[in-house]
Amino acid sequence: MQIMLLGLPGAGKGTQASRIVEEFHIPHISTGDMFRAAIAQKTPVGLEVKQYLDSGRLVPDELTIRVVQERLSQGDAKNGFLLDGFPRTLPQAQALDELLNRLGRPLNRVLYIHVPENVLMARLTGRRICRSCGATYHVVFQPPKVEGVCDKCGGELYQRSDDTPDAVKTRLEQYAQTAPLVDYYRDRKLLTQVDGERPVEDVYEEVRRVLMSLEG
Ligand code: ADP
Ligand code: ADP
Ligand code: ZN
Repeated sequence: MQIMLLGLPGAGKGTQASRIVEEFHIPHISTGDMFRAAIAQKTPVGLEVKQYLDSGRLVPDELTIRVVQERLSQGDAKNGFLLDGFPRTLPQAQALDELLNRLGRPLNRVLYIHVPENVLMARLTGRRICRSCGATYHVVFQPPKVEGVCDKCGGELYQRSDDTPDAVKTRLEQYAQTAPLVDYYRDRKLLTQVDGERPVEDVYEEVRRVLMSLEG
C-alpha cells in the first residue's frame, strides 16, 4: 500500500492518517511532522526550515525532496507507506514519481480530502497537538476529555505556532501551488475524492472502504 493524502491545510489529513496507520500498519510519513521534529532538535535542516514554518510559507522543493527521499529509503517504508503533506508542488510530485518508479513501487492511491475553504480557519485556530505523542485535537470539534491533556498518553496539549490567523492566511494562499496536484493525480487515474466536511468517524469509514478495496 503506497498511498498519499492530499487536501488543504486543516482538511483532516493528520487526523485520518493516525487512524489509517493504526489499522493498516504502514509508516506515516508527514513532512510537517518531520520538519517540526528537526526544528525541536535544532538540526541543520531544522534551522533552515524554521523561518518557513513560522510564516506559513512552503519549504523549498530541493530540501523537501531530499528529506523525503532519505525517509523513503529507510527499511520500514519497504512494505508500504502513507504520505501526508507531501508532495505539495508539481516539482515535488514529479520527483516523487521518478523516485518511486526507480524503486519499482509507484503510488497506488491518492485520497483527496475535500472541504470548503470557509471551514478551515476555525479548524486550524482551534487545533491542539499533544507534545508527547503528536495526537491531534480540536477545542470544539474533537475536545480531549480533560482540557489541555491528551486522552491517549496524558501529555500536554499545545497550539502550533503556525495555527494563528496570520500564518493560516499565508498557508491558504500557498495552497495555490498544491491545487494543481488534484488534476495531476486525477489524470493518472489515482485520485479518489472524499468528502471531509463530515464527522471524523464518517470520513474514516469512507477512507477505510477505499483502502480495503486496494488490499483485496
Ligand atoms: P491537516 O493535517 O489536514 O492539516 P488535521 O487532521 O490536523 O488537518 O485537522 C485540523 C483540525 O481540524 C484539527 O484540530 C482536527 O481535530 C480538526 N478536524 C479534523 N477532521 C475533522 C472533521 N472531520 N470535522 C471537524 N474537525 C475536524
Ligand atoms: P497542515 O497539517 O496544516 O497542512 P503541515 O504540518 O503539513 O501543515 O505543514 C506545516 C508546514 O511545513 C507548512 O506550512 C510548510 O511550511 C512545511 N511543509 C510541510 N510539508 C511541506 C512540503 N511538502 N513542501 C514544502 N513545505 C512543506
Ligand atoms: Zn499524547
